[in-house]
Amino acid sequence: MAASPCSSKPHIVLFPFMSKGHTIPLLDLAHLLLHRNTTITVFTTPANRPFISDSLTDTDASIVELPFPQNIDGVPDGVESTDKLPSMSLFVPFATATKLMQPDFEQLLVTLPYITCIISDGFLGWTQQSATKFGIPRLVFYGMSNYAQSVNRSIGVNGQLSGPQLDDEPFAVTDFPWIKLTRNDFDEPFNSREPKGPYMDFVIEQVIAASKSYGQIMNSSYELEPLYADYWNRECEPKAWCVGPFCLAKLPKTEPEPHQKPTWLQWLDQNLAKGNSVLYIAFGSQVEMSSEQLHEIVVGLEESKVNFLWVRKKSESELDDGFEERVQERGLVVREWVDQRAILEHGSVQGFLSHCGWNSVLESVCAKVPILAWPMMAEQHLNARVVVEEIKVGLRVETSNGSVRGFVKSEGLKKMVRELMEGEMGKEVRKKVKEVGEAAKKAVEEGGSSWHNLNQLIDELQALR
Ligand code: UDP
Ligand code: UDP
Repeated sequence: MAASPCSSKPHIVLFPFMSKGHTIPLLDLAHLLLHRNTTITVFTTPANRPFISDSLTDTDASIVELPFPQNIDGVPDGVESTDKLPSMSLFVPFATATKLMQPDFEQLLVTLPYITCIISDGFLGWTQQSATKFGIPRLVFYGMSNYAQSVNRSIGVNGQLSGPQLDDEPFAVTDFPWIKLTRNDFDEPFNSREPKGPYMDFVIEQVIAASKSYGQIMNSSYELEPLYADYWNRECEPKAWCVGPFCLAKLPKTEPEPHQKPTWLQWLDQNLAKGNSVLYIAFGSQVEMSSEQLHEIVVGLEESKVNFLWVRKKSESELDDGFEERVQERGLVVREWVDQRAILEHGSVQGFLSHCGWNSVLESVCAKVPILAWPMMAEQHLNARVVVEEIKVGLRVETSNGSVRGFVKSEGLKKMVRELMEGEMGKEVRKKVKEVGEAAKKAVEEGGSSWHNLNQLIDELQALR
């Protein structure tokens, strides 16, 4: 690759993994980097391109398209995102298939101007081979909190998940003895005595690739989780840079004209005008919930009497007959892609019943909205502990058997929804989230810790050329 003069702008290649929860933060990072006078190229696939180009309109970022592999076992043709998979059991074949993109990726990579670094998703470990081949530093993006990453590492190294006899038996994390976890805080296969299987093999492969990388880029600020950020950079490799929350890079979209407002925004405006506070409900793009559990939510919400906006996936099963009509005075259910940040920033929204995907947690904190945590899968249980036990910006739903993975009955939901919206504990976390949200904003602003870290990283990478 032809080297250009040292004075030229840094050129950063971003390669997000194909799911909304992994793509959105990297697009926010693109905006953060564009504010630093860098050139950005984003790699993606045809079906994911419209979403990416929408997010990058009015910027100079370039998008490079790679064909998505065809005829993958079980994955319907045309599906290029895990959000569209008929079942998450197809995750490994889907993610493994992305390796077939390597030749096309490399062919296009060499046509680009001098590349300062590649920032690619932790699930695209194969991009490390390409980076090594061309001598380009790669930074890994996992989209996890420092807490989740450090706790996972400590537990893995010390083999702690093979200790407890019972799934709900608490144990203290060796390197962080104040944290008490249970095996149920972890997903399969990690929570079994001898984790194995295709997903485990896939994860190990990604971790090995990450260990060869230049570093990691963290969607978090140092102030949000100082102990865990310090732990990682003291005990582990590669070095992690906290440069977030990334969602603060982009200002929320300007208010649309009244006739262009989506229904949910008009509905929130009406609630604001009436002085109502609204609970926002969303469980992320990957959730699969049983009809029994949905029924309990419906009953709990109906009895709680709170105002709510519930955003559901198009593919989810229908709610109980007549529910939406019965609650129409105070509740709205939508089945479309919404601007979650605009909802959280809306003056009427005073609480978020959330699955605790890390992006949702950060967006809620930055909008200063307290959380009612209901983790479901992936590392969401660890994120819920960050929310409730570490930064104390939220409460947790009550399960019927006390297990973190237990069934939530309508009474347990109703009680905690009301506590968050009207109770004393709700008041405390509401106060705390204002402080934490303010500190997060300061971190990203000029002079803040994340601002400094990003400058330092860019300078360091520029000095390598
Ligand atoms: N999101 C959105 N509109 C929707 C659903 C989701 O903007 O209708 C965004 C949300 O704001 C967040 C991301 O999608 O940025 C979801 O990421 P998260 O880590 O919260 O959860 P995941 O979907 O990965 O489980
Ligand atoms: N999309 C994607 N991966 C796919 C298919 C579509 O990322 O496999 C993009 C699509 O281009 C669109 C966005 O996801 O911009 C929203 O998709 P959604 O299903 O919410 O809307 P629809 O496709 O129904 O318009």
